[in-house]
Amino acid sequence: MSTDGGDKADLDPKHVGKLVETRLYAINEKKHHDGVILTFFCPQCNHNNTVMKPLIFHNLTMDSFMQAVSGYRLETHVCACGARLTSNNLIIAQYSHYFPETTLDFQAEVTAGSDFVAFYRMDPHGERALIRGTPDFRFMYETFGRVMSAREVWKYAISSALQTRKVQLFNVEKGFTVVAMPGSNPHARVNVREIVGPDWPGDGALVFRLVDYRPDEAAFEDAFPAWMPEYAGEITSGHIDAVAVVDQARILALFKKVLARDGFEFTVKGDVITVNRKPFKAVLSVRDVAREAAYTARSFQDIVDARLDVAMNRIHSAEGLLAAIRRDMPSYTYAIDGDFLEITNPNNGLTDRVNLYTPLPRDGAKLIVSRLREALCKDDKLHPVCRCGKECIVVKSVEPATWLKETPDAFNHVYDEREGAVIVYYVSCGEHTTPVMKTDLAAWLADRAALDAAFEDVLDMLRISVEAHAGRFGRDTVVCVMGNRACDIITHPGFVKGLLDALKVDLGPQAIVYAPLKELVLIYREDAAVENLNAALLDLQTLAAARDLRQTPLDYIELVPLGEGHGIFNLITLPPKPGAAAAAAPLPETARKADESSAGK
Ligand SMILES: [Zn+2]
Ligand SMILES: [Zn+2]
Repeated sequence: MSTDGGDKADLDPKHVGKLVETRLYAINEKKHHDGVILTFFCPQCNHNNTVMKPLIFHNLTMDSFMQAVSGYRLETHVCACGARLTSNNLIIAQYSHYFPETTLDFQAEVTAGSDFVAFYRMDPHGERALIRGTPDFRFMYETFGRVMSAREVWKYAISSALQTRKVQLFNVEKGFTVVAMPGSNPHARVNVREIVGPDWPGDGALVFRLVDYRPDEAAFEDAFPAWMPEYAGEITSGHIDAVAVVDQARILALFKKVLARDGFEFTVKGDVITVNRKPFKAVLSVRDVAREAAYTARSFQDIVDARLDVAMNRIHSAEGLLAAIRRDMPSYTYAIDGDFLEITNPNNGLTDRVNLYTPLPRDGAKLIVSRLREALCKDDKLHPVCRCGKECIVVKSVEPATWLKETPDAFNHVYDEREGAVIVYYVSCGEHTTPVMKTDLAAWLADRAALDAAFEDVLDMLRISVEAHAGRFGRDTVVCVMGNRACDIITHPGFVKGLLDALKVDLGPQAIVYAPLKELVLIYREDAAVENLNAALLDLQTLAAARDLRQTPLDYIELVPLGEGHGIFNLITLPPKPGAAAAAAPLPETARKADESSAGK
């Protein structure tokens, strides 16, 4: 293989067109910035086979690239017809490196019948220009606006400076010049500007001497001692004055280009770029990029991209954290103060702050939310608010156990499951009554105990309208209660006592409450005789049959303590059944059960 392009075999122009098209596709669609395109001719079936694949470089340099090119001899391919093709069947092998900053493609080609390598420069429109001669660093910069590897250039510059005792200067990309000076002259710190001459970038120029690198300030894992250990001693001892001249204006321009492309809002002040994504922001320093480029010899674009990635991740994680906190604590008020989110519990005025940009562990948002809840919910009473804006009270209602199956999203309601019944929680502003959902509890940062506590607070404000009669059946006093929501009195023992007080009935320290229907309730002492209860139930059924009442099977029984009475009782007479045609519903099942229960106690 020779790098003299002179004896190049002429290719069919149609073939060149296809090759250019394939390479543009590889760059733009496949993102093969380093890639190879091989075209084999199959002598068995007379077909051309074009193969496109990425080239993987651990360390891209002119040397490693040329090594990859010489690997064309090892390329093989199996044709669709089954023939095994080798480099002897190659029509053309094209190895390329694409410079994204300058959108130019460097191509090295080996064609059939020739061992020479031809070099081309291709622009983004597919226009190709043959490169005469061997591409060295200076040539690469002039032709492509970049060298393949600034590190390779550094090493070359330093070794040349040591050998020739002359200043070596190379541009590695636009706005980035490396200079290696033999350091034994008396003017140890020469005027770099004079030495750089016409390549001096102007006002934006920053000069970094590699000898000044202080890892304790801002360490880079891949600073020059890592990739040119052979010259680190020459540099630190002062044998070689290695200087990077970096143009800040060029770095700023790269930032602006990427930020504009990605549609980010930003402001520039001095060498500081602030990316705004309200209410979030990230700050980037042009000078930091210049410093990193100088000591690591990575390309501006690489560093700009990496730093923008970090900045955007910072913004995204802050956004994610804010969204997570808001989702779990929606009823709080929020304010952003610099890097901090200030969260206030509107009920008690307690406030806490969270640094939105703190790096978080995997479920960090959860931990933060639980910490905030703990801090902000001290002595916090539940204050549910209706959709109409009025404050609500908590109320409860009793439903038969079948409610769980019949209510489509029952699992999402807040309820207390009892044997044969379900106590469902509601909030009411007086005008609107809404079931409490589990999501509401989450939003209010409350649990069912807090609802119960809020319910306890309003027991004496609840007005309960029922028709109720106390009657003597044999030696037993039995209270019969009727009403479409009669059963709700069992949502709190205080209501049972409140009703007994309203009726001026004393059943002692505890009583059995039995509800065969949601609309019918019997209250009696646990030692009541079964026959008396049957008589009372019959009486109640007869009464109920004449009233305008729904009939919802329930079958709930409970022994309740009779402590303090609560509730405001309106003792009413229910309207008569319209038409009074329907007969009283027989209740044999529930009656028998009531007997057993009371008899067993
Ligand atoms: Zn074939
Ligand atoms: Zn309301």
